[in-house]
Amino acid sequence: MKDTDLLIVGAGPIGISCALAAQKAGLDYRVIEKGCLTNSLFRYPLEMQFFSSSEKLELEQIPFVSTAAKPSRSEALEYYRRVVSAHQLKVQLYEQVTRITPTDSGFEVCTPLDTYQAKSVVLATGFFDLPENLDVPGETLDKVTHYFDQAHPYSMQKVAVVGASNSAIDAALACYRKGAEVTLVVRGPEIGQRVKYWVRPDIINRIAEGSIKAHFNTQIKAIYPKTIELTRADQTWIEDNDYVIAMTGYRPDLDFLARLGIPLEGPMKKPVHDSNTMMTPIKGLYLAGVICGGLETHRWFIENSRAHGTQIVAHILENR
Ligand SMILES: Cc1cc2nc3c(=O)[nH]c(=O)nc-3n(C[C@H](O)[C@H](O)[C@H](O)COP(=O)(O)OP(=O)(O)OC[C@H]3O[C@@H](n4cnc5c(N)ncnc54)[C@H](O)[C@@H]3O)c2cc1C
Repeated sequence: MKDTDLLIVGAGPIGISCALAAQKAGLDYRVIEKGCLTNSLFRYPLEMQFFSSSEKLELEQIPFVSTAAKPSRSEALEYYRRVVSAHQLKVQLYEQVTRITPTDSGFEVCTPLDTYQAKSVVLATGFFDLPENLDVPGETLDKVTHYFDQAHPYSMQKVAVVGASNSAIDAALACYRKGAEVTLVVRGPEIGQRVKYWVRPDIINRIAEGSIKAHFNTQIKAIYPKTIELTRADQTWIEDNDYVIAMTGYRPDLDFLARLGIPLEGPMKKPVHDSNTMMTPIKGLYLAGVICGGLETHRWFIENSRAHGTQIVAHILENR
């Protein structure tokens, strides 16, 4: 058994910010991460650019300098890695937390490698592991992906990009610019209103000029090795297709939270917590980062949740 004051689950930007706050307060803590450091950011598209400017992604006012105002994925990976190494934060990688059980003195936290005793636990587990599936026949074919990393492999191919939010639009434009024949399949009537203001006109103009084909109010009904079946109202039709990039969003592992006894509120299944202290109804169990929004995964992001660690540590210190 390994004892600690605070065990933080997840080494994304917000888990790291919790570790910085804990270290600053002199708490004994450890971070346990199932993948690599900033695992979610690592899996973002290779050439993605953040919508936030770099100072808004800084943790504990540690300067984040980027070439352009809005940093790239690789600059963000470098920044968070340097924060962890320069501050010698206690982060254990490639170890998944599989069970958390409340005990008389706090929590027992299990991973396949070890068991830990922690007085308090922070769940900073993000939302990027579970894609929102299309739930159609053929979705498990190799030609379908829910994670877009780069456009080059799609060059000279017929690609259907599903979705109308930032990730879908970035993927559609990138594939088009690498010579793919892109069809955008959009469930609603238009390109999402939250698409970055400098990107929205680009996609609207590419559709208007016919460079990118778009089907609105349309859904994929089935995926076959060389075609897809589409449906709109009472109409269905087949189109040639080589690849499907389904940018339909992701959801947090809410079952994990429910198993812990955290109530999930309303249709967005928002995990109940006090927004000042970040504590759930389970004493000593806290939430931080994007997971706080439940299914509303755009509610919290790095910029507006990087203070969660400070709030949590303040509450732990007050209640010692
Ligand atoms: C394409 C894209 C662009 C974005 N641009 C911006 C932007 O410009 N500005 C901004 O503020 N936000 C942006 N965001 C959102 C931002 O990336 C997320 O809000 C942020 O990653 C949330 O940080 P987090 O630490 O809460 O979660 P995550 O970064 O998702 O980290 C959670 C971590 O927990 C780990 N984990 C999960 N379950 C377990 C387990 N059981 N045991 C151990 N570890 C576990 C995961 O592997 C992961 O590393 C963007 C998101 C996307 C997808």
